[in-house]
Amino acid sequence: MTRVVVLGGGIAGRSVALHLARAARSQRGTRLEVTLLDAAMNGLARPLLPQVASGPPASNIGSRVRRPARARAEQVRFVFADVDTDDRFVVGVNPSTGAQLRFDYDHLVVALGATNEDTGIPGVREHAVCLRTPADAAEIAYRCSVPAPRATRRTAVVVVGAGPAGISLAAHLALRNPGIEIVLADRKPRLLTPFPRELGDTVAGALARAGVSWRPDSLVSEVHPDRVVLRDGAEIPSALCVWTAGTRSVPEVETSFAGAEHTTGGRLVTDPMLRVRGVADVWACGDNASVPWLDAGGDCPALGTFARAQARRLARNVVSVASGDYATSFRGDVPVVVSVGPASAVALWRGRVLRGWTGGVAWHLGLGLVPTPLSRLLPHDGNAGQSDVGTPTITLPSARGPSASVELGPAKRRGR
Ligand SMILES: Cc1cc2nc3c(=O)[nH]c(=O)nc-3n(C[C@H](O)[C@H](O)[C@H](O)COP(=O)(O)OP(=O)(O)OC[C@H]3O[C@@H](n4cnc5c(N)ncnc54)[C@H](O)[C@@H]3O)c2cc1C
Repeated sequence: MTRVVVLGGGIAGRSVALHLARAARSQRGTRLEVTLLDAAMNGLARPLLPQVASGPPASNIGSRVRRPARARAEQVRFVFADVDTDDRFVVGVNPSTGAQLRFDYDHLVVALGATNEDTGIPGVREHAVCLRTPADAAEIAYRCSVPAPRATRRTAVVVVGAGPAGISLAAHLALRNPGIEIVLADRKPRLLTPFPRELGDTVAGALARAGVSWRPDSLVSEVHPDRVVLRDGAEIPSALCVWTAGTRSVPEVETSFAGAEHTTGGRLVTDPMLRVRGVADVWACGDNASVPWLDAGGDCPALGTFARAQARRLARNVVSVASGDYATSFRGDVPVVVSVGPASAVALWRGRVLRGWTGGVAWHLGLGLVPTPLSRLLPHDGNAGQSDVGTPTITLPSARGPSASVELGPAKRRGR
């Protein structure tokens, strides 16, 4: 039995767990025990957050951001605390009881995601809101529902950072809150620069139709409660600044994993096979990984579609290595999908730019937001958001050979 521990149950971690199940089933004689650890384990898909942030303030935030296919996932919650890459175990903390539990592994997958980077710009921490969690989305929805004070009546919501998060939020806010002026600012001269110009131009057109004021070449130097100041001295009045610019790895990834190679943004550097450089049998994918982009040069962008595609390759590689076979490179020929409102999206799919409802279909497919037979493998205990240490286990009938046992939840429970 090969023990695989997956840290993080976001877009990448969940895809790894699901594809390990499938890959194990198609490999003769490979038995895997997969343990998936996540601090929240609510099936949250971050690309759905703009829908919540732009809607009316509501109490049932959790149920509105859970993706349909993942709502049946198990609710086991553990916060990653420590790792020993020599003796091959990680320590997790049960957030309800504070108990520390040890999880031994043969292969460790790190998929803990990223957080926003303010690069030390004055006022960002104090006055700006990020959009990483349902609580952030709820705060934005609340702040947009409260009328601006008289002194700032002509003010706007300024979204800083024109990646998929900023674009999607700006479009949703503009379309669903027509009374509020929405400004999208970024230091770059055009949208979605790593990709073909046609994609950025199509997104810019969609933003203009939604009523978003797009301000390229706007390097933010200060954020105040009532305005955003640019490097050239220009000021944008704002009742609310949402910061989506730049990402860096979550702090745990930066501080743990001694011996591993990190980027300056704290990401784990991997080889093209998604193995972390400097430590044995540790793999990484998604926003906390710096993965070479063989098809385009440089590193892969921090996008959900890349996280999913890396997860699929990583899972196959883990199964190959566990069966004595070779790992294969991740190339990065991946679709790009960006939401530009509640009912439409723009996608770069096999070299073609899709928009409107076809873009919307591509967005759902690209981010795995539609139920598939594979996604139904994750069991469901029906207690959304509840912490629990149960270990739901499913056994998959193997196509040939013995069955692959895939265990989701904590595998080994020994005090440290
Ligand atoms: C608002 C928004 C909109 C977006 N829109 C798009 C889009 O339209 N298209 C697109 O391609 N991409 C989009 N993205 C980017 C996409 O969401 C990310 O690239 C993707 O989520 C990365 O997946 P991940 O699994 O690496 O990280 P995440 O999905 O962030 O998952 C990380 C997981 O790790 C868990 N975790 C973190 N720390 C700990 C800990 N200490 N212990 C235990 N668990 C922990 C978290 O709970 C989380 O479940 C958007 C992002 C945002 C924020």
